Amino acid sequence: MRFVFEQIRTGGDRNFGYLLGDREAGVGALVDPSYTPEALVGRAKAQGLATQYIINTHGHGDHTNGNAKAKKLTGAPLVAYRGSAVRPDLPVDDCQVLTVGMLSLECIHVPGHTDDHLVVYLAEQRVAVTGDHLFVGKIGGTGSDDAARQEYDSLQKLLDRLPDDVTIWPGHDYGCRPSSTIALEKETNPFLMRLGSLDAFLDLKREWATFKVKHGLI
Ligand SMILES: [Zn+2]
Repeated sequence: MRFVFEQIRTGGDRNFGYLLGDREAGVGALVDPSYTPEALVGRAKAQGLATQYIINTHGHGDHTNGNAKAKKLTGAPLVAYRGSAVRPDLPVDDCQVLTVGMLSLECIHVPGHTDDHLVVYLAEQRVAVTGDHLFVGKIGGTGSDDAARQEYDSLQKLLDRLPDDVTIWPGHDYGCRPSSTIALEKETNPFLMRLGSLDAFLDLKREWATFKVKHGLI
């Protein structure tokens, strides 16, 4: 298969990093190499891929702490949202597309969990690396009601953009399975089920700790 895609456990709090690539072109990108940059670079090499980009979904330390090492090992530029505190070599704007061989990586800006959050979307391959914006069965934490409102808008934006059959690949293994689809999340993710009402969404955010215990969620 020409499309290379690996979900890699990077340690931390069940963190995931990702390798994306085009086998024929021999190029790839790393997403959130995190605690194990050597492992992601090693996987790229094993797949015969030269790393073209290192991409951060957002600026939290548990996703960015492998940046320096990954850059040193590959010489590839760091990509993140424009204005991100990680000070990217290649800042991207909302909907900017990066080309990796035959792959088109669309960087969708989804503020909320952080101001600089990106979802990396490969429309043709039906893959979305969602970082800490959208997990399997839950969504990213927010520090204020304003951030929660922003996250609500960003989730709406993402669902408007991504068809139901797109697979989602989160930044942590927090759900009952390591990946999901937009359709399945719309049906089962309690936050996405409340996207019709901002009040219901904000109420669930406030009551999340109790809700989790009541429904036996981790
Ligand atoms: Zn985060």
